[in-house]
Amino acid sequence: MRAVVTGAAGFLGSHLVEKLITGGFNVIGVDNFITGSKKNLAHLESRTEFEFLEHDVSNFISIAGNVDGVFHFASPASPVDYLELPIQTLKVGSLGTHNALGLAKSKDARFFLASTSEVYGDPQVHPQAETYWGHVNPIGPRGVYDEAKRFAEAMTMAYHRYHGIDTRIVRIFNTYGPRMRPGDGRVVSNFIVQAIEGSDLTIYGDGTQTRSFCYVDDLIEGIYRLYEHGGPEPVNIGNPNEFTVLELANLVLKQTGSNSKISFGELPVDDPKQRRPDISVASSRLGWKPTVELEEGLARTVEYFRNRLNE
Ligand code: NAD
Ligand code: UDP
Repeated sequence: MRAVVTGAAGFLGSHLVEKLITGGFNVIGVDNFITGSKKNLAHLESRTEFEFLEHDVSNFISIAGNVDGVFHFASPASPVDYLELPIQTLKVGSLGTHNALGLAKSKDARFFLASTSEVYGDPQVHPQAETYWGHVNPIGPRGVYDEAKRFAEAMTMAYHRYHGIDTRIVRIFNTYGPRMRPGDGRVVSNFIVQAIEGSDLTIYGDGTQTRSFCYVDDLIEGIYRLYEHGGPEPVNIGNPNEFTVLELANLVLKQTGSNSKISFGELPVDDPKQRRPDISVASSRLGWKPTVELEEGLARTVEYFRNRLNE
């Protein structure tokens, strides 16, 4: 079995590559390092099951030989990144998805799209089930990511319906863990780095907004099951335990034993007020549920960042 993973040098892509290799795949990782890092793949360099291609997947993707699965994970994912890279984000979600689908079609391979809870926007339904169509501002700053992913889902379903491609769509909810970049800008990495360095934990807004944080190993297990046993309909994968951002800040302070203070800044435009996945579909169809709770996942992530910042 041979799989292509776009975005392989990113946080999630690098964990997925490992899982696929363990599952018996040979993997071709593709990345242009726009938000990823060579470090994330360094431990795989000597593995014969792994090849790497430096390439921007918004341009035609050429891979020699057979391919059984195409996993399209390339895209800036942190709000800080996609606000700095709006055009690249729109291109990789649209042109990149089209190219990755074209590759899957030409190889008669299964296609797997990394979509997001952001397709629900600032949701007016809580928790969010896959049947909810979302509440997205297409012309706001976050629209570049949300609409690219919504287009990517539509394109994936069109390839499924029109070309008969075997497809999967996962809607990923806030995931954290080792290999996030210290400067990635997402809340878990920001708070942990700030706590370790003794600077203020920067809460945007009053900290009452909520997120539901999933540990990376749980997410990757859900993705693998969806690829193997799922169908074409989108499936939420995330941890339904919901926390306010203020609760998260206090947990990080406790876990790190830090004396950092908390500071309150401006809430970004269109920042979703609440987010929690309804995971009934994942649990009934895939027998999946998360196993690592936030305290345990944070402990593992704090250890990773302590080592990374010491390097
Ligand atoms: P990341 O930024 O760590 O990884 C993304 C990778 O894609 C990077 O290595 C980057 O260099 C690469 N990339 C971006 N544009 C590219 C292009 N045009 N060509 C080739 N490579 C390109 O982010 P992540 O958290 O690992 O996210 C991976 C995927 O999962 C993304 O599609 C993201 O939208 C999705 N997702 C992640 C989360 C999360 O909580 N981590 C939540 C929802 C969705
Ligand atoms: N956030 C924060 N401080 C930070 C980074 C983020 O308060 O240093 C907030 C952000 O405004 C949002 C939540 O934390 O309400 C989650 O942000 P993140 O960037 O991790 O991902 P999002 O869920 O918004 O895509």
